[in-house]
Amino acid sequence: MTQQADAIVVGAGVVGLTTAISLAEAGLATRVLAADPPERTTSYVAGAVWGPSRTSAAGRTLEWARVGLEVLSGLAGDPGAAIRQVSGIMVEHVTRPAPDWLAILPDQRPLTRAEVPAGFAGGWRYTAPVVAMPAYLAYLAGRFQRAGGSITIEPVTALRALPAPLIVNCTGMGARDLVPDPQVIPVRGQVVVVANPGLTEFYRAPSDGPESVYAYPHEDVVVLGGTADEGAWDLTPNDHVTQRILRDCAIACPRLAGARIIAVRVGLRPCRAEARLEAEDLGGGRVLWHNYGHGGAGVTLSWGCARELARAIR
Ligand SMILES: Cc1cc2nc3c(=O)[nH]c(=O)nc-3n(C[C@H](O)[C@H](O)[C@H](O)COP(=O)(O)OP(=O)(O)OC[C@H]3O[C@@H](n4cnc5c(N)ncnc54)[C@H](O)[C@@H]3O)c2cc1C
Repeated sequence: MTQQADAIVVGAGVVGLTTAISLAEAGLATRVLAADPPERTTSYVAGAVWGPSRTSAAGRTLEWARVGLEVLSGLAGDPGAAIRQVSGIMVEHVTRPAPDWLAILPDQRPLTRAEVPAGFAGGWRYTAPVVAMPAYLAYLAGRFQRAGGSITIEPVTALRALPAPLIVNCTGMGARDLVPDPQVIPVRGQVVVVANPGLTEFYRAPSDGPESVYAYPHEDVVVLGGTADEGAWDLTPNDHVTQRILRDCAIACPRLAGARIIAVRVGLRPCRAEARLEAEDLGGGRVLWHNYGHGGAGVTLSWGCARELARAIR
């Protein structure tokens, strides 16, 4: 590794790459070091739709989400970014007030009684950015490299020993051992990627338990979910879970029945009561920033966190 970097960002998931772009585009000579390339991260597995999930949904998190909505919506006009504005419904088993984050969206409303599917108590219709993560991560890596950055695949064992005045820790689940921070808990998620049979709207039936049902359409594929197993580390897809997801999604969206399976993926959401975005003074003019623990909302919160960090450094 060269000694000249102004900043070293550790991690090449959505949080690390977005942070690295924000620093490189602000003029800092920035390097990314990561144990795994973007295509082997949790970020690659995500659905992914804008909206905080399995994280705090208040205070600074809401502000990060608002910035995320603004940036992702802007990128929806860029063909290389693989983001589209998609409409759909989120249904609920119990009647409850709309979550605070819903009010940030310009296009949202409660479902009329006639629109609520059988077996549900209510829900909302809204439009939000849907991100095709494999292509979006490639876009982020390319944008970072065009800003002069470089990515090296190499594990880091000691953050403070890295040779740069600014070090940023974007290691997701890795932070549990690296910091160490036992507050970061894995919440395992399995998705099934199928060929898109013509679905144009998303469907979400979230739950507080380990099983939920969702379908996020991209151009060629639909990402179907889902699961949320707290404390589970196993990255091997479970066939029973695959069948359960296919069955439940086909009940919710009959068009999905018999859709061709393209991939089954598993990722570990780096869950924490709230994402950790804060600086540690290392002395001698050196600073270590932490930016990890975004739970089920790393795509949603990544730009808000990266921009706040870049602003603080300036
Ligand atoms: C099934 C599923 C669905 C999801 N759906 C959504 C959604 O719809 N919307 C949304 O906003 N979010 C969603 N998420 C959550 C989102 O994917 C995560 O919050 C996000 O990917 C976390 O990004 P990250 O960059 O922090 O971590 P990761 O993507 O895991 O990247 C971590 C990086 O750090 C590196 N690293 C770790 N330890 C070290 C080390 N010691 N040395 C060097 N490098 C290290 C890794 O190699 C990797 O490059 C979903 C997640 C899952 C699993």
